[in-house]
Amino acid sequence: MSGRYQPADAFRSPRFSGIRTFMRLPYVTDMTDVDFAVVGLPFDTATSFRTGARFGPEAIRAASALLRPYNPEQDVDIFAHLSGVDAGDLQLAPGDTEGTYALAEEGLGTLIDAGVFPVVLGGDHAITLAELRAHSARHGPLALVHLDAHGDTWHEYFGQRFYHGTTFRRAVEEGVIDPAASVQAGMRGSLYSPSDIGDARDMGFTVLSTLELLDLGPAAYGDLVRERVGDRPAYLTFDVDFCDPAYTPGTGTPEVGGPTSAQAQAFVRALTGLNLVGCDVVEVSPSYDSPGQPTALLAANIAWEIISLHALARARGAGS
Ligand code: MN
Ligand code: MN
Repeated sequence: MSGRYQPADAFRSPRFSGIRTFMRLPYVTDMTDVDFAVVGLPFDTATSFRTGARFGPEAIRAASALLRPYNPEQDVDIFAHLSGVDAGDLQLAPGDTEGTYALAEEGLGTLIDAGVFPVVLGGDHAITLAELRAHSARHGPLALVHLDAHGDTWHEYFGQRFYHGTTFRRAVEEGVIDPAASVQAGMRGSLYSPSDIGDARDMGFTVLSTLELLDLGPAAYGDLVRERVGDRPAYLTFDVDFCDPAYTPGTGTPEVGGPTSAQAQAFVRALTGLNLVGCDVVEVSPSYDSPGQPTALLAANIAWEIISLHALARARGAGS
């Protein structure tokens, strides 16, 4: 068995040729025979510091040209189990966060209702609320698996309730995630007060700082997440500032003292056995990236690891 839609054959057209889609997948908007669809959501006007994540999806697509179909760490050939496409970018309204939410919920809803696993490329972290709404409307409250230097559970910024640092407080208030089944990990850096993390714990989240996560290691982290999440529908969100800015400088709110790109991959790979219904990789801001685009490369590889998790679930007869 293998999927209808697969990447372009690199032995017929070299990887540096052709129009940039994610992983050189065909650009297809008809969801017939599609298992997963990569979509961009280039919205970045809910950032608190550096803007520029509107150019994240195109940078991640360009960096993804080198991705191959077989994941040796997971021993899975993605396209033996899945048919995948790049469905382009969702509609959005720059400068209008709530307007963008409405457009994104509608666009994603079309994919979800077609039985497609959406892989969203951000965009700033505000967009995740629209995704959580779209998925929870179909599945009920979700278990959130969140890798980020920040908890994004602040109250508001400049009087605005919908910002990239308020996403998960709003998600709890709206009932689209179940904090008791959710794990935030990677938090570090300066805060306004102890309540920044204390509030998240009071809301019911399990919160692991970067140091706690590194002490735990990938295998124990995976066990902890599986124990918290169980078989609930789960949503995985990866903010690239999870990594140290030595690895992911191209992002809006960098925090030093973070994991390496190798550690980030290992933590994501450890998340087998979940009932993932959706995911995103956010906060790639290419104009701050280093030559060689390490941030976009990491983001492309994390999206590929998540697609690998979905292929593994399909191979094991779950998560379809
Ligand atoms: Mn974030
Ligand atoms: Mn962050």
